[in-house]
Amino acid sequence: MNKDIATPVRTKEIMQKYGFSFKKSLGQNFLIDPNILQNIVGHAGLTKEHGAIEIGPGIGALTEHLARASKKVVAFEIDQRLLPILDDTLSPYDNIKILHQDVLKADVQQVMTEEFADVEDVMVVANLPYYVTTPIILKLLMEGLPIKGLVVMLQKEVADRIAAKPGTKNYGSLSIAIQYYTEASTVMIVPKTVFIPQPNVDSAVIKLVKRDKPPVEVTNEDFFFTVTRSSFAQRRKTILNNLTSQLPNGKEKKEDILKALEQAGIEPSRRGESLSIPEFADLANALYPYFS
Ligand code: SAM
Repeated sequence: MNKDIATPVRTKEIMQKYGFSFKKSLGQNFLIDPNILQNIVGHAGLTKEHGAIEIGPGIGALTEHLARASKKVVAFEIDQRLLPILDDTLSPYDNIKILHQDVLKADVQQVMTEEFADVEDVMVVANLPYYVTTPIILKLLMEGLPIKGLVVMLQKEVADRIAAKPGTKNYGSLSIAIQYYTEASTVMIVPKTVFIPQPNVDSAVIKLVKRDKPPVEVTNEDFFFTVTRSSFAQRRKTILNNLTSQLPNGKEKKEDILKALEQAGIEPSRRGESLSIPEFADLANALYPYFS
């Protein structure tokens, strides 16, 4: 087996060889612990029949572990300076494709059609750039891509919000959006010391397994998400106050909102954080006729 990229010595050698300097603005914190990488890949449950999508391969630390565990890896990297480095570090592998693209602008669906015709399932596995974790995860889920799930490293604080249950301080519209599409769990807490440079915040790895179908039926998905976001606009306000101030013409439609709350069996004085996902679905479905 080839020597791991993700050791402190090898990573520093590679950086020196290419005179590479980290760009904080691109969320560049590279992993330098092969055990952590092994663990992340283990949680993805990859086999030689699976494909893997990586966001931000950096110098290839995680990419090579994915290449060893799966049939094919496709990685999106925004930083052009890393392309010649990846060419070099990943040269022992013939099952990796690096795409020089901003994943937020990429046509991932098209890439999947082209690159993964002959794999069983595709997992997204990544140490995400922390400045854009939420937009990346939401894009991959909302585009309805044929992926099995995601195993991704991100800020612990965001992981806590994603996996939060109703009635807790971390529960909010992000928890609901992600739990609508997936079963979410935190699988690892990761210390700062396994990165260079070390990030300012603690990290965690979350596993998101896509659901076959959403856990609730909603009349209109966009409106459901509008209602959840509106309900948490000001966490200390009641659900009634948030909805009247956030929904279009909400103030004039206060009576309609009250009727919908009653129909959904939700006290207007409750706060958003106390509502379960099925309650939000009932509420959005009751409100929808008044706002469509
Ligand atoms: N996978 C490597 C590792 O674990 O050592 C690097 C992870 S580093 C946290 C994030 C990587 O994402 C960097 O290589 C950065 O250049 C890249 N990146 C940042 N924004 C991106 C974007 N919008 N699209 C694709 N890659 C991006």
